[in-house]
Amino acid sequence: MTKAEFPSQHQPLAVPALGEPYLLTPGPLTTSKATKEAMLRDWGSWDGAFNTLTAQVRKQLLSMAGVEDDSFACVPLQGSGSYSVEAALASAIPRDGKALVLMNGAYGQRATKTLEYLGRDYITLDKGDYLPPQPEEVDALLNANPDVTNVFIVHCETSSGILNPLREIAEVVETHGKSLIIDAMSSFGAVPLSVDDIRFDVLVSSANKCIEGIPGFGFVIIRRAVLEAAKGRANSLSLDLYEQWVYMERTGQWRFTPPTHSVVAFHKALEQHQAEGGVQGRLARYTRNRDVLVAGMRKLGFKTLLEDRWLSPIITTFFSPEHVNFEFKRFYEELKARQFIIYPGKLTVADSFRIGCIGQIDEHIVHQLLRAIADSLLAMGVELEAA
Ligand SMILES: *Cc1c(COP(=O)(O)O)cnc(C)c1O
Repeated sequence: MTKAEFPSQHQPLAVPALGEPYLLTPGPLTTSKATKEAMLRDWGSWDGAFNTLTAQVRKQLLSMAGVEDDSFACVPLQGSGSYSVEAALASAIPRDGKALVLMNGAYGQRATKTLEYLGRDYITLDKGDYLPPQPEEVDALLNANPDVTNVFIVHCETSSGILNPLREIAEVVETHGKSLIIDAMSSFGAVPLSVDDIRFDVLVSSANKCIEGIPGFGFVIIRRAVLEAAKGRANSLSLDLYEQWVYMERTGQWRFTPPTHSVVAFHKALEQHQAEGGVQGRLARYTRNRDVLVAGMRKLGFKTLLEDRWLSPIITTFFSPEHVNFEFKRFYEELKARQFIIYPGKLTVADSFRIGCIGQIDEHIVHQLLRAIADSLLAMGVELEAA
C-alpha cells in the first residue's frame, strides 16, 4: 500500500448535520459526508460496475493485511460482524475439531455461544471481565490438551477496550502448530496486523468499525488452504464461507442479495483510509483521540478501568463515579442533548461506561466532548475530585 501524506492534525473534521449526534460508540460510528454521499444512488447486484467495486474492496482488504500473493482469500459476507465470526468458526474448525477460546469479555463469550450452536467442542481460558490472557497460560493449556485444533482470540476486546497481547499469543500458538482465528473486528484498519508479522489462519472484521463504513457486511481473511479444506463443513447455507467464496470467484457476484449501498460506502471509506495514511495514519488519529480523552477525563475526576499499558486506541472504559447524583441514564441524556452519544458499560462487576475513539472524530471533537461532559456533571450536580 502506498503511504499518503498524513493530513494536518489541526484540520478539524466536518461537523455532522444539524441535530445529528457524534457516535462515540464502536460501530456504527460517525462516518464522513463523502461516505454517506456515496450511497445516493442505486446499484444492480448483477451490474459489472458494482462487481468491480466488490473486487477492489476484497483486494484492498488483503493488501491491508499485508497479503501479496494468493495464499489468503478475502470473503465478504452479508450481515453484522457476528455473522462473519460464525461463518469463520464453522469453516475453520473441523466438525470433530476442538477450539481453545481465550475469553476476557463479551465477544469471547459470544464465540463460545456460537460454538455451542455449531456443535463444535471447545475449552476456554476465561480471564473474567478485563484481565489479559497470558502466553504462558495458553502454552500450558495447549500442552495439557493436545487435541485442540484451533485457538480463538479477540484482538481488541471491545467490551472493556483492552488490546490483548496478540503477538505473544500467536507465537505460542504457532509453536504448537495450531490454527489461530482472530476476531479483529474492532481493531483491523487501525492497529497493524499483517501476515508477515503474525501467523494466523483466519481474521474477521466488519465494515462499520475502524475502516469507518456503515453496517451491512463483515469479511473474513482466510488462508486459502484452510478455506479449501472447509468445503462441506458449514452448518448453515447462508453462512457457508466456502460456497460464498467459490460463487464470488466464479461470477464476481455475491451469492445472495448484496448490501449494495454498504459496499459502495465502504469502497469510499477505503479511499479515505488510504488518503489518511492507511493503518498508520488512522492509528495516529485514534491514539491522539484516546490520549486527549483519557487525560481530560482524569482531569475531570474519572478513572479508567485499565492500566495505561492495556488501553486500546479504540474504546476506553471509565468507572461510573460513586457520587450520589451520578446516574448513567441521566448522564447519557445530558450528553445526547449536547450532540454526543456514548456507550453503556458491559462489565459484570462494576458500574461503568465506555467512550469510543473511532469514527470521523478528531481531538477537537474530543475537546468539545470533554466540555460537554463537564457541563453535564454540573447540570447533574455531580462534583468530582480531579486526579
Ligand atoms: C463489533 C464486534 C463484533 C461483532 O458485533 P456485531 O454486533 O455482530 O457487529 C465482534 N467482535 C468484536 C470484538 C466487536 O467489537
